[in-house]
Amino acid sequence: MRPDDFILWKNQCYIDGKWIPALDGEVLDVTNPASGEVLGTVPKCGTKETSLAISAAARSMAAWKLLTPAERGEYLHRLHALIRENLDELAAILTLEQGKPLAESKGEIMQGASYFPWYAGEARRAYGRLIPAPGPGRRPLTMLQPVGVTGIITPWNFPFAMIPRKAAPALAAGCSVVIKPASQTPYSALAMAALAQEAGIPAGVFNVITGDSSKIGAELTGDPRVRKLSFTGSTAVGKKLMAQCAGTVKRLSLELGGNAPFIVFDDADLDRAVDGAVISKFRNSGQTCICANRILVQKGILDAFTAKLAAKVEALRVGSGLDAGVTQGPLIDESAVKHVEALVAEAVDKGARIMVGGKRHALGGLFYEPTVLGSVTPSMRVFREEIFGPVAPIVPFSSEKEAIALANDTEVGLASYMFTNDLGRTWRVSEALEYGMVGVNEVILAMAEAPFGGIKESGMGREGGSEGILDYMDTKYVLMGGLNV
Ligand code: NAP
Repeated sequence: MRPDDFILWKNQCYIDGKWIPALDGEVLDVTNPASGEVLGTVPKCGTKETSLAISAAARSMAAWKLLTPAERGEYLHRLHALIRENLDELAAILTLEQGKPLAESKGEIMQGASYFPWYAGEARRAYGRLIPAPGPGRRPLTMLQPVGVTGIITPWNFPFAMIPRKAAPALAAGCSVVIKPASQTPYSALAMAALAQEAGIPAGVFNVITGDSSKIGAELTGDPRVRKLSFTGSTAVGKKLMAQCAGTVKRLSLELGGNAPFIVFDDADLDRAVDGAVISKFRNSGQTCICANRILVQKGILDAFTAKLAAKVEALRVGSGLDAGVTQGPLIDESAVKHVEALVAEAVDKGARIMVGGKRHALGGLFYEPTVLGSVTPSMRVFREEIFGPVAPIVPFSSEKEAIALANDTEVGLASYMFTNDLGRTWRVSEALEYGMVGVNEVILAMAEAPFGGIKESGMGREGGSEGILDYMDTKYVLMGGLNV
């Protein structure tokens, strides 16, 4: 399978309805993490190209926002249909640039695409309010209006799905978008731009620009015509962009890092908990923001849980995401592998036990063995940092109170999970966890219908649900007076 096989494989940026190279002709290489081969190049754009894209977005938004929600929704429904029609090709592109197994790529694309029809509908229900008047002759009301040109910056771990979660509510609300995908995985975003073009979305409304992240980021955050920035990525870069947005007081949505606790109580359904841990921890080779990062297991069930988890992890199949039967692709780059190696070495040094895996895979390159670590404690880096790799650290605990304290012992608060069959406990623990999301006997949290997002240093804003479109709309208050009422 080669890039030349695909009609959606684009190696130029999509700005103002045209495919263009960087103005100075510079390019970036994109490599396949499974093989190390260079897949192709994309433009290395910077300040000038970003400014052009912002100009196109600002100009086109004037007409786009005046369409009715139903008319904008028609475009989104068309784009959704085109994504489904091109699923196989989009999945192959995603796997080539990112490494995840083809089945996961298909799941990511279908899940991501579902935000387009959802928000096509939500825009039609973006109601204002008629406020009961405090006195005669007056009628206060609110209306919701698009926030304005929106900058979107996305990471490499979900190169496709992270875009619709932001672009669908933005476009549905009447905003135009300038999207900057991660440099390691730009082709999924460019393929989506090709489909947006085919869907007839007017020139300038949907732009994708690749290149120098700090230059593009500086322009998107500094230009006063951009009224909103929506970013998914690391907490460190999120904080930087937040500071950069202060100068023009932009609206912000930030989906940042996590350190998810996965709590298994003695009364849990053991098999369900083990299956949940494997899916949550090892999906995308552990490179998701909502991955189980710390598996907290109550002592009464610890041995049984560990033995079953170890057996399942041993059975995972590592290899190229294009090969049938493979469940674990490579990590994204060498520094990701080194990060995992350092975390495991430090944990072992401090007394953690390797139950399964624990080193680079025999395949070499960027492949790491699916790993289970026992006897992990809060003093270890694997407990405190986002692992972003296929390592499951098991942390024993005794009481519910201790589990909650361990779970909340972090400055981030994105996803959390608990496995229990005690109804009272599900309420107590759900209310006590300092997280934006809680999965109770469930691990697949993202859905277009529900608000995904974090608290504390995991960010702000929500993607999905009826909440998601409000992040792209301003509330305008109108007071009508002098009325004969
Ligand atoms: P990252 O280094 O923060 O990069 C994310 C995006 O930001 C990329 O497009 C990157 O571009 C860009 N970027 C980097 N430096 C920038 C700058 N100075 N100005 C503007 N843009 C800049 O994060 P990552 O390593 O790709 O992604 C992994 C992180 O994302 C993890 O922490 C994960 O938890 C988080 N994440 C969170 C969620 C969520 O929903 N909360 C979802 C997925 C991932 P280049 O690639 O060109 O450098």
